[in-house]
Amino acid sequence: MKVLKFGGTSVGTPQRMKDVVKLISDGEQKIVVLSAMSGTTNSLLEICDYLYKKNPEGAYEVINSMEKKYKKHIAELYTTDEYKTITLEFIKQEFDYLRSFAKGIFTMFEEKIIVGQGEIISTNMVANYMAEQGYNSCLIPALEFMRTDKNGEPDLEYISKKLKVQLEENPDKEIYITQGFICRNAYGEVDNLQRGGSDYTASLIGAAIGASEIQIWTDIDGMHNNDPRFVDKTSPIGHLHFEEAAELAYFGAKILHPTCVQPAKFAGIPVKLLNTMAPEAPGTVISNETEKNKIKAVAAKDNITAIRITSSRMLLAYGFLRKVFDIFESYKTSIDMVCTAEVGVSVSIDNTNHLSAIVDELKKFGHVEVDKDMCIICVVGDLDPDNVGFEAQATNALAGIPVRMISYGGSNHNISFLIHESDKKKALQSLSDHLFNNK
Ligand code: ADP
Ligand code: ASP
Ligand code: MG
Repeated sequence: MKVLKFGGTSVGTPQRMKDVVKLISDGEQKIVVLSAMSGTTNSLLEICDYLYKKNPEGAYEVINSMEKKYKKHIAELYTTDEYKTITLEFIKQEFDYLRSFAKGIFTMFEEKIIVGQGEIISTNMVANYMAEQGYNSCLIPALEFMRTDKNGEPDLEYISKKLKVQLEENPDKEIYITQGFICRNAYGEVDNLQRGGSDYTASLIGAAIGASEIQIWTDIDGMHNNDPRFVDKTSPIGHLHFEEAAELAYFGAKILHPTCVQPAKFAGIPVKLLNTMAPEAPGTVISNETEKNKIKAVAAKDNITAIRITSSRMLLAYGFLRKVFDIFESYKTSIDMVCTAEVGVSVSIDNTNHLSAIVDELKKFGHVEVDKDMCIICVVGDLDPDNVGFEAQATNALAGIPVRMISYGGSNHNISFLIHESDKKKALQSLSDHLFNNK
């Protein structure tokens, strides 16, 4: 069985929902994971923001305008009065439920419930449409089987077992629709898999059922060789290794949620990135195969902070690096890049919640410098050391841009550069021109 995930823009209008239904109805049995309609999760977070600020009027305003929009969608999506009425009633209940949060205390528990409603709404809308049109489909609620454990990691055994129950309770259906993004935590409370987490849902479901393929349908024809939001003349990549895709996703290629690669990789299930607006385009296949001798793509991750600790006294001493890393570990702050020299070590982090405490502790070991507003540029491909000159090609493309750190050799798939965020666009464009466009 295949798992297909459709993102916010793919279900962003009633017409797009109809297009998705056409696309998934090919007679093959499948699980379809849907995101919220685009813009909805942001609006839900805006509601939460008002409620945290004890401004119910602000929340009501957003809720009312959302409700108006959804009523219009319903009028466009359904042809029969029966399904218009059923779905209008459902929408009314949903928005009344959202209004009910304006009274009483508001905490992160309520917030988690609210932000998940976008997926509940979109899946019910599509499931009702499919029922109206006579498709052999049903809705299976993600909150019945998606769960994380006490460490916040997906509980794949539980997911597998409970999903099986859902499928067995609805035998002989062609299409099973479910919500991306939402789950329960180890205590049974409503939770989610972080922004953009519907990709993760699809990958986890794929791994749980041993799917033959996981398809991530979005608004672009696969992973491009550079970020199309910042760079001209990017083009789609036909094939990526799981490791390459993971690096690109982690280092900013928004098309794929960073956590999504791991479950598929462990289960050995190929992932395809496809375009809902151009379904015939080949897209990108992510699998265990490596395409040799090629630099594949570039991505950028913002909001990076660099920290350098210099100490002529300490660095050569046995155990110095461990002490430095222990400090980051004790503040649950992960390190992205590391560069060492005889007299110092530089690291980069993206979570600055505990920056000042970390810096205070590091000062016990040497002089500490902090650079904010940095960005990691990550060049991905077959960067095996035997490919002589590949790293030089990347470095040459960045001539003229101040580089704070370079990391190469951690894997055979990546070379990373730490630069100022203000140089990001220029660096990405220059890398595209030099590496892919023969300029
Ligand atoms: P969805 O809502 O379907 O999950 P996203 O907005 O999360 O879609 O991801 C798709 C977007 O990712 C594209 O519209 C594109 O702007 C952006 N993107 C960033 N980097 C890349 C890349 N390297 N290749 C393709 N798309 C990228
Ligand atoms: N709707 C959620 C978000 O906007 C999850 C997703 O789209 O993947 O982040
Ligand atoms: Mg996404």
